[in-house]
Amino acid sequence: MSKLKKVKPYRSIRADRASGVYHDRSDCPTGQQIHSEELAAGAGRLQRCAECEALDEGSRASPPS
Ligand SMILES: [Zn+2]
Repeated sequence: MSKLKKVKPYRSIRADRASGVYHDRSDCPTGQQIHSEELAAGAGRLQRCAECEALDEGSRASPPS
């Protein structure tokens, strides 16, 4: 069994202003860079992060590192 890294949607409050993206994976490298004081819960009106999407799709294959 592989660990699911899915979490509730979260975003940076800066993304709201910069038309950024929301994340829903705890292992997203971009999501991990969000400082705790910038963290907001929920997806807002943002699009989903492409890296989170790629992590979902690549979760069965071994990712290039
Ligand atoms: Zn992400």
